[in-house]
Amino acid sequence: MIIVMASRKQEDIDHVKSKVEEMGFDAHLIEGVQRTVIAAVGDGRGKERLQSLESLAHVEQVMPILKSYKLAGREMRPEGTVIPIGNTSIGGDTFSVMAGPCAVESREQIVETAKIVKAAGAQILRGGAYKPRTSPYSFQGMEEEGLKLLKEASEVADMPFVTEVMTTESLDLVADYADVLQIGARNMQNYGLLKAVGKKDVPVFLKRGMMATFNEWLMSAEYIMAEGNHNVIMCERGIRTFETETRNTLDLSAVPVLKKLTHLPVVIDPSHGTGHWDYVSPMALAAAACGADGLQIEVHPNPEVAVSDGPQSLKPKVFNQLMDNLRPILKVTGKSL
Ligand code: PEP
Ligand code: MN
Repeated sequence: MIIVMASRKQEDIDHVKSKVEEMGFDAHLIEGVQRTVIAAVGDGRGKERLQSLESLAHVEQVMPILKSYKLAGREMRPEGTVIPIGNTSIGGDTFSVMAGPCAVESREQIVETAKIVKAAGAQILRGGAYKPRTSPYSFQGMEEEGLKLLKEASEVADMPFVTEVMTTESLDLVADYADVLQIGARNMQNYGLLKAVGKKDVPVFLKRGMMATFNEWLMSAEYIMAEGNHNVIMCERGIRTFETETRNTLDLSAVPVLKKLTHLPVVIDPSHGTGHWDYVSPMALAAAACGADGLQIEVHPNPEVAVSDGPQSLKPKVFNQLMDNLRPILKVTGKSL
């Protein structure tokens, strides 16, 4: 149920929260621009009792949440969520570009890439220190050393960074370094990991599973939010279809569909979405045009020697060109870098 507050006074909010908790529900406070609501979530039994809160003067309305995802649903924050990340934010009028290599390979590689993408206008650095590879014999990432190098590069370039966490065992370590925790496509339904990142006070970048429906993906966001972490960013990175010409099929309909269903920011990853560098820029521009809140793009100073995902990585010159081409499109959509 959603309890729409008539008052924004702290004592009134605390009063309703304690009533909700007394009835056996978790109370999640959502302070929007237009209204303050308290979401009472829990096992649906006994939810009718919550209706009685309508008799309180500081409560405007109590209404049911019809969707199976409660906290992620658009009705919870109709104006959309803006998530602060270091010296920038995702959502609202900002168009966020996260760029960097698939994997951290060396100090030179990550520091050089950070400087390049920052100069081109990207706000957030990306790079993997723990890599989910199809083969156990492929490069698995530089692990903690990679996290240290990401931190160094992010300080040099003065930009926050996003990096993937693959296991609950490594979560504390990764969360100590990262500004944003990425949950990869392969882990979208790793509920133990989702619950664990839900307990952290670090924004989560939730990639769509390769065969996940929108509902399943939003339920994964709900797992994170139900633990208290409401800062979730949805990232479409392509789904698996019968097509073999592209690595995945980038489902750009994710942007309008998620904009309708959820208040969470929506980012597009055309690198994994297509698998080929020359398809990345056209799809990135299309993502901006259809109202995405940002992009995640793989950029490598020398893709020919990249240890992972070289074929889909943009060279600095191509990335620069993409950033220049984005600006006029963003003018039309009302967002800016
Ligand atoms: C990545 O971002 O490098 C990655 C492995 O992404 P995904 O989980 O979307 O495959
Ligand atoms: Mn990659």
